[in-house]
Amino acid sequence: MTKIFIDPGHGGHDSGARGHGLEEKNLTLSISLKIRDMLTKEYQGVSVKLSRTRDQALSLRQRTDMANNWGADYYLSLHINAGGGSGWENYIYIGGVFRKTKQLQDALHANVTEELSPYSVRDRGKKQANFHVLRETRMPASLSENLFIDTEEDAELLANDQVIEAIAQGHVNGLAEGLALKMKSEKQMQTLEEDPKSPPHSNVLRKGNRGDRVRELQQQLYDLGYDLGRYGVDGIFGNDTEKAVRRFQTDCGIKVDGLVGPQTLSVLNDSYELIKKGSRGPAVRGLQNRLLRAGYELPRYGADGIAGSETITAIKQLQRDAQIAVDGIVGPQTRKALAKRLR
Ligand SMILES: [Zn+2]
Repeated sequence: MTKIFIDPGHGGHDSGARGHGLEEKNLTLSISLKIRDMLTKEYQGVSVKLSRTRDQALSLRQRTDMANNWGADYYLSLHINAGGGSGWENYIYIGGVFRKTKQLQDALHANVTEELSPYSVRDRGKKQANFHVLRETRMPASLSENLFIDTEEDAELLANDQVIEAIAQGHVNGLAEGLALKMKSEKQMQTLEEDPKSPPHSNVLRKGNRGDRVRELQQQLYDLGYDLGRYGVDGIFGNDTEKAVRRFQTDCGIKVDGLVGPQTLSVLNDSYELIKKGSRGPAVRGLQNRLLRAGYELPRYGADGIAGSETITAIKQLQRDAQIAVDGIVGPQTRKALAKRLR
């Protein structure tokens, strides 16, 4: 199995570069999702993991830690350039690198340049830099800067879905060449599309589904402190995952059916936003119920879905107990501290 880690640059409050109505974080995500879908649909023996599959803020360290812990064979980071200029370029680390790193850069460079040639995109060449994601990854890695968001002609290309497709296709072809990936047969591609266990065409995740979307769901539930039983984050939606989903739905006061449809997904994503005084809604109710379960008290209002002073007091108590910054705001650190107390 060849493990490819794709890192869509920026996300969440970090929009990256902006220009002409475009935001870097959205472009990098759509290119990355296309690369993932093409790779898994067309190639065999390949496993693809993304640092994020939605609009989410991640530190550079979180990104490289994820890839290192997963044991990726290749790390590809996608960005959009800015600062006045035109064209695309690809970077590898400026210090010593694996021989494979250079081979893969050659393959990516040739293939992306070829895919972009119908659009007269300038080739800015193969470059080297001391970027965190290139330096701190323990596997061959590269970073692409795909066109300039603040240059009018480039921005026009970036707004064209065919160009986004071409950027993705070029990277897929480069990875396939550099990593010697084998294509699936026609027959395998058809069975994949008909397999009810693979959920790419349905928006609802349910028991029996498996794959990256299930894994992502499990990771989120786990990070919020829900028990996934013996198998943990394994990419298979079984009984334990269903139980965790029901528990989450119960905590948040939404429909309890063990299915992950648009409502559950959106509350799950809201649970990752900062929760602070005045926040309200199902995600807040979920937080309150988890606080209660962890032994914190909300004597007057209980889990009412509104982060008032009582809830903030409970959050601060949790922060004091966990010996982290006491600000009454639930961000990643506080979420983690609460999850730890629940598991
Ligand atoms: Zn960037």
